[in-house]
Amino acid sequence: MSVLVVVEHDRGQMADATLEAFAFAGSIASQLGVNVEALLIGADAGALAELCAAHGAGTVHHAADAALTDYGPDAYGAVVATAANELSPSAIVASGSDRGNEVLAFAAADLDLPFVANCLDVKTADEWEMTRVQWGGSLNEDARLASSMPILSSAPHAIEAAEPVSGASATVQVLDVSLPEAAVATIIQDRIVLSEGVTLATAPVVIGGGRGVGSAEGFEVLEALAAKLGGVVGCSRAVTNNGWRPHSDQVGQTGTRIAPQLYIACGISGAIQHWVGAKAAKKILAVNTDPAANMVVKADYAIIGDLFEVLPAITDS
Ligand SMILES: Cc1cc2nc3c(=O)[nH]c(=O)nc-3n(C[C@H](O)[C@H](O)[C@H](O)COP(=O)(O)OP(=O)(O)OC[C@H]3O[C@@H](n4cnc5c(N)ncnc54)[C@H](O)[C@@H]3O)c2cc1C
Repeated sequence: MSVLVVVEHDRGQMADATLEAFAFAGSIASQLGVNVEALLIGADAGALAELCAAHGAGTVHHAADAALTDYGPDAYGAVVATAANELSPSAIVASGSDRGNEVLAFAAADLDLPFVANCLDVKTADEWEMTRVQWGGSLNEDARLASSMPILSSAPHAIEAAEPVSGASATVQVLDVSLPEAAVATIIQDRIVLSEGVTLATAPVVIGGGRGVGSAEGFEVLEALAAKLGGVVGCSRAVTNNGWRPHSDQVGQTGTRIAPQLYIACGISGAIQHWVGAKAAKKILAVNTDPAANMVVKADYAIIGDLFEVLPAITDS
C-alpha cells in the first residue's frame, strides 16, 4: 500500500507546489505506515523520477503515452483513475493548484469517489479527519471523510516542502494506460510563452497595485520599482475590472495566489478576496493614504502616503 502523489509538471518541469504535496503525502504515509509513491504523466515527465525520489517516493509509476505530453484534465484524470484501479493506493494526493484540483476532480468522478480539496492537515486514526481551507481561505473547516480511497489535495503555500534527500533513488514502473478517445478531449495545438523568467506565482518580490493607482499609465511607478527589486507587478480586481491590467496579473481568490518574500501592496484596500491571495507572502508592506485600510492594519509594515510620492522615493533611493 502507498500514498500516491500525482506530480504536476509542464513538459518535465515540476511545479513547486508538488513538493508541498510530497510533504503532505509523507505525513499521511507515516501515520498509515506505508510508502510514498509518485505518478508521472507524460513522456517528458520521466526525467522527474530522481526528484520524486529525493522527496520521498520509493516507486515512481510512469504513464508515457504520447497523447499525454501536454496537460489535459480529462486525459490526466483518466490516468489517475487507471493508476488507482491498478495500484489500489491507500490515498491519492496532489497539490491544490488549479491543475491539481482539476485532475483529482476528474479522477474522483471517474472512480465515483469523494474528493477533498485544499487540506491543511489529515489524521487517519479510526476515521479520516481533515482540516481544509474553505471560502478562499476565510475559514478552515474540520471534516470527516468516509471513502475506500481518500483523494486529497494539499492547500497551496500552507505546507512546508521538505528538503530533498540527496542520492535517493526510485524504482520506475511503466503504467500502461489505454485512453478512450473521449478522454483526450483537450488537444494543445500551440504553446506561447506568456511571461519569461519569474511569474507572479513564483516571484520573490511582487509589487501590487489597486484602484489607488488610478489608471493603466499609473502602473509605470510600480514597474520601475519592480525592475529595481527584480520583482513583478500584480494587481487587484478593481484594476482588472477597469481594464488597466490583464487578469493574469490579478492577485486573490479569483486570481493568482502569491507567496513572495515581499509583497508591496500599493493603493489596495485589502478586501478579503484580495487578502487570501496575498497572505502567504513572507512580509507585506502596505502603501496607502488611509491608515485604517485593512491592508495597512494587516501588513507587517505600512507607509501612510501617496503611492506616487512613496514609490519613486524608494526606486530612486
Ligand atoms: C466573488 C468575488 C471574488 C473576488 N476576487 C478578487 C480577487 O481575486 N482579487 C481582488 O483583488 N479582488 C477580488 N474581489 C474584489 C474585492 O472584493 C475588492 O473589491 C477589490 O479587491 C478592491 O480592490 P482595491 O483594493 O484595488 O480597491 P479599493 O477597495 O477601492 O481600494 C483602493 C485603496 O487605494 C487607496 N488609495 C487611493 N489613492 C491612493 C494613493 N494615491 N496612494 C496610496 N493609496 C491610495 C485607498 O485608500 C484604498 O484603500 C472579488 C470580489 C468578489 C465578490
